[in-house]
Amino acid sequence: MPVVAVREDSESELCRPETPGKLCHSIAVPQYKDVVIVGNGPSAITLSYMLAGNWPYYRGTPVQDIFLQERLRGVMGKSLLEVDLEDLSQGLEGRSRNPISLLYDALVHPGADLGKDRGTTLRWRFKPNKVVDHVALGRGLPGGSWQSMNESALTISFGSWMDLPKFKFREWQFRKMPTTAQEGRATIGDVSQYYLDYVVHQGLKPHFLNNTLVTCAFQRTEPTETESDSPPFWEVHGQSEDGPVRYVTPHLVLACGTSDKPNRLDIPGEDLSFVVHTLKELEESFERRGRLEELMVVGAGLSAADAIIAALRRGIKVKHVFRRAANDPGLVFNSLPPALYPEYHRVYSMMKSGSTENYRCFPRSKLIGIRSNGIALVEGVHGCGKIPVSCVALLIGTKPDLGFLDPEIWEALSAGAHPKFGRLSLDVDALTMESRCFPGLYALGPLAGDNFVRFIQGGALAVAKRIHENLGNIPKALPSPADKDSSIPVPRACDVKCPTP
Ligand SMILES: Cc1cc2nc3c(=O)[nH]c(=O)nc-3n(C[C@H](O)[C@H](O)[C@H](O)COP(=O)(O)OP(=O)(O)OC[C@H]3O[C@@H](n4cnc5c(N)ncnc54)[C@H](O)[C@@H]3O)c2cc1C
Repeated sequence: MPVVAVREDSESELCRPETPGKLCHSIAVPQYKDVVIVGNGPSAITLSYMLAGNWPYYRGTPVQDIFLQERLRGVMGKSLLEVDLEDLSQGLEGRSRNPISLLYDALVHPGADLGKDRGTTLRWRFKPNKVVDHVALGRGLPGGSWQSMNESALTISFGSWMDLPKFKFREWQFRKMPTTAQEGRATIGDVSQYYLDYVVHQGLKPHFLNNTLVTCAFQRTEPTETESDSPPFWEVHGQSEDGPVRYVTPHLVLACGTSDKPNRLDIPGEDLSFVVHTLKELEESFERRGRLEELMVVGAGLSAADAIIAALRRGIKVKHVFRRAANDPGLVFNSLPPALYPEYHRVYSMMKSGSTENYRCFPRSKLIGIRSNGIALVEGVHGCGKIPVSCVALLIGTKPDLGFLDPEIWEALSAGAHPKFGRLSLDVDALTMESRCFPGLYALGPLAGDNFVRFIQGGALAVAKRIHENLGNIPKALPSPADKDSSIPVPRACDVKCPTP
């Protein structure tokens, strides 16, 4: 049975915006969009596909759960975007705590967790009259965090679990590389290329504004005449390759992931030039500095393991420092079957054995300082040691960068989040993914407690359904979806100060 684990190193505390109430310099007149999505990863891509008029229908083939099967009989011929998703998702259990995520997964990967994925039970129909005017604003290229991961590493999940709606990863593989396409895990490089191609293949490119950083998002406090009967609109400012962009929208979707800010130890020497905080920076220093003598890796998650694998492959000596004991049952390796994840289990074996030719570990230890002469100070159960290093990789998890949000909103969103969804998630209604305190604000993916691509798409379904229901209530005087280039002027100064609490 294939088993996947939530990456231990992705679980950490939410960070406070570092620049609360920062100034948003923008000269652009805001453009109206029915939906603005922050992010362009798998969450944003799936939502964009649905908002682009592609509606899912149950096609009648068997699902694993007999009670769900029975309930599905009542929705034949109707799109999932038109039916009661709460009712359909009753009683489902699995690797997500969001009911609609479980429902979507049960329909798209029936029996997957029992090792017999029978293929999707959904078919997609394009409905031109259901196209919603939307834009996805992303820091890099479509694929989101997949574009900044180590390309040669393997996915944790099976390749087929990386599928986005309708155009499957395997289908993409067969088109791209018919001779080498295979079952099982995929390379991260292939998945990131698939997401890039998916956006083009599904005609979503016009909805994506890439290489655009959202710098500020806030609820408008002075509604215009047309807005007065509806919930407050959101204003979003960003910086694109072509200059500032500015949107106004009744629906703001946060699909910005949780991997933008690497966690720090806040120890002396952490900012020295030979200290890195991401795998990408480590790869760069392998290339820039040629052969490294001694690499110190801090952390006991999968990113730390990836760094160790990459270093040993290059013949670099590794010193591995982590806080837990090597036999701690909470280590992520214990949830990965050895047959499926042999490379991670090789690292785990080394951690348990203590040292091998080029590897030595320091369990139950902390890095407490790094000196400019390349000496790392490590504190363990038996005291403090000085270890010479030529590079230090601190791979101890990440957190989202929500510094673009009005701090008041950020505080309220994170304060109300249920701890069972993990410390990174925001307080949203599990059936709609809409914020409980800020109408019109939604969260998707890891920000809503779903870490795996298999499940985050259910969140997109919930958001798309809610938005379609809401659009009927938006005042008619506002520009229609067909009126793509329309904009409404806003009575605000050009330099807008995000409201402070
Ligand atoms: C190393 C690694 C391996 C993984 N392997 C797997 C796996 O095998 N299977 C699996 O299912 N999941 C895996 N995951 C988890 C998976 O990557 C995420 O769950 C998924 O990518 C989340 O998608 P998303 O669209 O919500 O966010 P992301 O993919 O994180 O995309 C969000 C994007 O929004 C951007 N963004 C953030 N703020 C702004 C802003 N202000 N303006 C503009 N853009 C912004 C971010 O930079 C990012 O590019 C892995 C994660 C990591 C780190």
